[in-house]
Amino acid sequence: MGALPKIRISKGRKKRRRTHHSLDEPAMSSCPKCGKMRRPHFICEYCNHYGEKPKATKKKPEKEQVKVNQKTEKPKQDPKKEE
Ligand SMILES: [Zn+2]
Repeated sequence: MGALPKIRISKGRKKRRRTHHSLDEPAMSSCPKCGKMRRPHFICEYCNHYGEKPKATKKKPEKEQVKVNQKTEKPKQDPKKEE
């Protein structure tokens, strides 16, 4: 059996608890470069500027090929052949 509540929470109490669950709208400010709305302290999505300076999008570093650790990898040999 799963866990069950010991005391029933009334509809009013449940709703009162959930009055704090609503999400806030994200803070928006206008971009000084293009004038469109953007989030403060974020690079503008439209003109890719932060303040007055253009910010180049960072390219993700290519994943280096995972080197196989040869020391830990055991050589493939059948134990029966050794006998
Ligand atoms: Zn902009």
